[in-house]
Amino acid sequence: MNEEKKGFSRRQFLKSAGVAGAGSLLAGYAVAAPSGAQPAVPAVPKAGDFKVPTRPFGKSGRQVSILGLGGMFDLEANQLMLKQAVNWGITYWDTADCYHAGSEAGIGKYFSKYPQEREKIFLVTKSCARNPEDISKLLDRSLERMQTNYIDLYFLHGVKSLAELNDDARQWAEKAKKDGKIRLFGFSTHANMAELLMGASKLPWIDGIMLTYNYRNMSSPEMAAAVKACAQAGIGLTAMKTQAKGSWYDWSKGDVAKEALANQFRQKGWSEEQAKLKSVWQNPLIACLCSQMDSMRLLKANADAAVDPTALSSGEMRLLEQYACATAANYCTGCGRICEATLSSRLPISDIMRYHMYSRGYGRSEWAREHFANLPGSMRRELASADFSAAEDRCPQRMPIGRLMREALEDFV
Ligand code: SF4
Repeated sequence: MNEEKKGFSRRQFLKSAGVAGAGSLLAGYAVAAPSGAQPAVPAVPKAGDFKVPTRPFGKSGRQVSILGLGGMFDLEANQLMLKQAVNWGITYWDTADCYHAGSEAGIGKYFSKYPQEREKIFLVTKSCARNPEDISKLLDRSLERMQTNYIDLYFLHGVKSLAELNDDARQWAEKAKKDGKIRLFGFSTHANMAELLMGASKLPWIDGIMLTYNYRNMSSPEMAAAVKACAQAGIGLTAMKTQAKGSWYDWSKGDVAKEALANQFRQKGWSEEQAKLKSVWQNPLIACLCSQMDSMRLLKANADAAVDPTALSSGEMRLLEQYACATAANYCTGCGRICEATLSSRLPISDIMRYHMYSRGYGRSEWAREHFANLPGSMRRELASADFSAAEDRCPQRMPIGRLMREALEDFV
């Protein structure tokens, strides 16, 4: 397999991840510095004075916690976790109109009990709609559910192409800001991210972007250039899917690299998951890493990683690279324009890979089934008979696309 097929090389990985050995993570704690200037290093928090560090969110003038609370679960039943998040300075809260019914409602329940805490929170929600009228309706519903009269950052959810960032979207964002309903506007994306980010960097009305960003995809030269272009344009960046869980697991590969990873990080006193978070924070251009922390144990483990100032060494970044290489075929990088262009009919391969990832990697099979059920019947029939061999030939991750498309039919129908 050549380097292009693998998706990256070691040299590209180290260069684009900005690995400079110990100290680079510390540098990233304080300031996202597109200019390359070295920011001041903040004091390490003392015991009893536990606060997650902050970084500036693009050119917005707002500081955000480097660890964000992903709210894709029932926050109504997890009020103590919201309270503890505030105590530890995890004040970037992310939700969406389409998340679990108790997500926005749970935030609303919290704000109605602790109204004085609303100002501390950088509140983010998202809309799946694209029609301005529908977006307005969903925004109003989010405001009502969350018992607030403004959203700090409002995203169009799951944008796949620049065409969705059109004049209608710009005018809608400008009006919503003027009305005081939102303060910042942007989009979240899981697909075709490098092209989208590069295009968005030229749109002055985009304030923030939430993107899939992790040790597997940060190394591609296109992604590194796109992240840099957005940072230089003053767009705040939020990383998600930082554990890079796969759409399937190839039991014949990756075990040696995984064992080496686990051993190395165990010696350092970190879990593999904490090390993966650190690899993202290593890039100071990422303002916030958003993680779905649906247990107090996970909240504490991630907060511990966020306040620990030790950086990953270049050797440790290399171990992550080796693991990413060994298991590349497990992970879809969302470049749907490559594989989907080989098919005679439109089939959303990258979306279906994401459903697998949610189902198998995050145990959210119900969510995956619901989304798969939204595909038109004709598409689902097509999945059973389409020939994916050309798509597999072009896939930079060398994923077994045909096999996984058929498995989606078995798993989700
Ligand atoms: S299956 Fe391969 S080509 Fe298609 S989106 Fe995923 S990584 Fe890209």
